[in-house]
Amino acid sequence: MVTRRAYRKWRALVADLPLPDPFTVPDLVAAIAERRGRPIDIGTLPGGATAQTCGVWFQLVDRDVILVEENTSAFHRDHIVLHELGHMLCDHRGGDTFGDLTRLLPDLSPDLVRRMLNRTAYTNDEEQEAELVASLIRITAETRAPNAQPGVLGNLAAALGLGRGTR
Ligand SMILES: [Zn+2]
Repeated sequence: MVTRRAYRKWRALVADLPLPDPFTVPDLVAAIAERRGRPIDIGTLPGGATAQTCGVWFQLVDRDVILVEENTSAFHRDHIVLHELGHMLCDHRGGDTFGDLTRLLPDLSPDLVRRMLNRTAYTNDEEQEAELVASLIRITAETRAPNAQPGVLGNLAAALGLGRGTR
């Protein structure tokens, strides 16, 4: 479950992100990669890799890779990328790095992805944190827009059961 303390911590983290203006997910990915000093490759999950996962993040020696389900809406793809960025920004260590795989894309077999997914199993708390960070990024970007609705962050805090004192 998300505590008020965790919420504050992730809010501060998101507030400190180099959010592009205007906001797009690919621009955010580029900005975060630049800050980390490591490229982030976005690719497509091979078909049939898994039934229940729509995205995965893993680390290679020299770069991070995020793979996203292809057969879904652009909005959902963006959300999957934000969710995986959430795991990355929260420093979730779901499994080992895959440094031995140097020639990864585009030779990724469903079997290989399945094995990666098994090695990057997150706890429920980590999934919630990644989801929270994804939502916070989107909301923070929206509240910076010229026609922003006030109070959206407070609404999110309320939806999480944290009351409205966190704005
Ligand atoms: Zn996740």
